[in-house]
Amino acid sequence: MKKIQCSVFGHNFVVSKEITAHVKEYKCKHCKKQMTTSANGNLIPLTPKYKRINSVLKKVYFKKEKRKAIILDH
Ligand SMILES: [Zn+2]
Repeated sequence: MKKIQCSVFGHNFVVSKEITAHVKEYKCKHCKKQMTTSANGNLIPLTPKYKRINSVLKKVYFKKEKRKAIILDH
């Protein structure tokens, strides 16, 4: 039933995880399908490979943000 709704009305994606300012992970509220933002800004299925890329990306991004914050403090 829920899957029929998605195929008729389309998925209802909500952000499940923010990776960077531009890359986010999304999950469909109805069928739990997961998507992510690709390098060129399109939505692509969140495969285990992309999960791994995102977790690395997130670590790198937060390190950079931290460094920026420290610089701004001075
Ligand atoms: Zn769906």
